[in-house]
Amino acid sequence: MLTQQTALVPEPKFQSPDATSILQETPVIWASSPDYERARVGRVFNHRRPSRYPRGVIEATTVQDIINGVLLANQEGIRVSVRSGGHSWAAWSVRDDAILIDLGKFTCIEYDEATHIVKASPSTTGRMLNGVLVPLGRMFGGGHCPDVGLGGFLLQGGMGWNCKNWGWACEKVIGIDVVTAEGKAIHCDKNQNSDLYWAARGSGPGFPAIVTAFYLETRESYTNMKSSTFVYPISEYKPVMDWVQKVSLECDSSIEAVAVGAIDPATKAPVIIAHLVTFQNTAAAADASLQIFNDSHPPNCLVERMNKDTSLAKEYSDQCGANPEGHRYVAENAYLQNDADVTEVLRKAMTTLPEGSKAFSLWFSMNPTSRRPLPDMALSMQSDHYFALYTVWEHAADDERCKAWVRGIMKEVEPHAVGAYLGDSDFQVRQTRFWTDEKAERLMAIRRQWDPQGTVCGFLDRGDQSRTKGLANVTEWQS
Ligand SMILES: Cc1cc2nc3c(=O)[nH]c(=O)nc-3n(C[C@H](O)[C@H](O)[C@H](O)COP(=O)(O)OP(=O)(O)OC[C@H]3O[C@@H](n4cnc5c(N)ncnc54)[C@H](O)[C@@H]3O)c2cc1C
Repeated sequence: MLTQQTALVPEPKFQSPDATSILQETPVIWASSPDYERARVGRVFNHRRPSRYPRGVIEATTVQDIINGVLLANQEGIRVSVRSGGHSWAAWSVRDDAILIDLGKFTCIEYDEATHIVKASPSTTGRMLNGVLVPLGRMFGGGHCPDVGLGGFLLQGGMGWNCKNWGWACEKVIGIDVVTAEGKAIHCDKNQNSDLYWAARGSGPGFPAIVTAFYLETRESYTNMKSSTFVYPISEYKPVMDWVQKVSLECDSSIEAVAVGAIDPATKAPVIIAHLVTFQNTAAAADASLQIFNDSHPPNCLVERMNKDTSLAKEYSDQCGANPEGHRYVAENAYLQNDADVTEVLRKAMTTLPEGSKAFSLWFSMNPTSRRPLPDMALSMQSDHYFALYTVWEHAADDERCKAWVRGIMKEVEPHAVGAYLGDSDFQVRQTRFWTDEKAERLMAIRRQWDPQGTVCGFLDRGDQSRTKGLANVTEWQS
């Protein structure tokens, strides 16, 4: 269906001989097509749809389609944007007047038994990848949401399963294939085109090329995953938060620890939840790992579920429940100072969620990963405490109320933060430090070197102005 805005998008004027032959090989869904709206936003997870209108959409199925998209854009002096899994909260793939290259139909998973390396296309999701790997006794610590695409996730760093102990998912990227802003297909790793390889691990949407494949180290999969979950009334906020933080430092390295402020869907009462998942190979080992939490948890639980069998499939399904499809979202986040009084800094965020929404606030333990020196790569911002707001609601009428709540919380949390994670950020609203200053400077220089014309849409700031300049890496509200 054409909207008023799409009707205003000018018809394409691609009439050069080169453009004509490209278009014969690689079809473009133009704004005038009845299929345009589906192609524009049909695979965008957030139903708070952007008022941005690409000139056309290529649903690539081959590397040549991706090259053709870039060549077409260069001939016409416009940009390309990229979509892998469509899970960017701020719909970064949807850009005005660009050619949107949607990689959803460009699929590949090839696992090498000898090296344990898997080659995967960027639209591959964590669920798809582990669906292939787990039966082979391997796994990859992809996103907690099963349907996040590897493309956006890995470029940002990737806060995957047990990131607290296993490190950033992008540390497992040993090489990438890309199509450059000139339209050339090349391979990048530590020995060749190493600056692009450096940038691909932490540039986020500022990556100045299009990744067509990731080469990933896999890890052994775990045959015994168990979880303990404790749900408390919000009146127990302080003892629960203090306890989870303390014990997450004392537990073993098999455990991922999270505290969540949420609204109980049945009673509509605010609750504070601690959820601990252990990755082990025997039931006894899993029980032993969780014991430290089970034995020490504060009294007055509403619900306690200890040592429950779980699996990636079960955890994925719970994540889908928390992030339902077809909803409107705002995500925000901060890395809190290591010595922050986390319980007090997050009190309002965890205990005053917008009424009637399905929002939740999360504290995610990142120590000891946060205390290790990182490999040399663009990703360079982290702290012991990851905090994120996932504000979820159904109706446009609640947009302003929910956005205002997020803004109010972030204004209060910001003074206690050292920076933020690209993956849960919207640069149109708020920018902050996403890298160390040295790495940010190097990243922006690599952007300009590999894409001097700004062909590949980069960071989407307010009004889409940042282009080859990139982000300033300073804290600044944009609207
Ligand atoms: C429900 C939900 C749960 C999430 N859970 C997690 C989580 O557990 N851990 C975590 O770290 N993050 C998580 N995220 C954040 C998520 O990782 C980011 O939103 C990420 O950008 C999604 O990647 P995508 O490929 O699906 O998104 P897309 O919207 O397809 O891509 C986002 C942007 O990344 C760039 N990009 C993507 N692919 C390419 C490519 N092939 N080449 C060049 N640039 C590319 C482009 O700028 C693109 O516009 C979650 C998001 C959602 C919606």
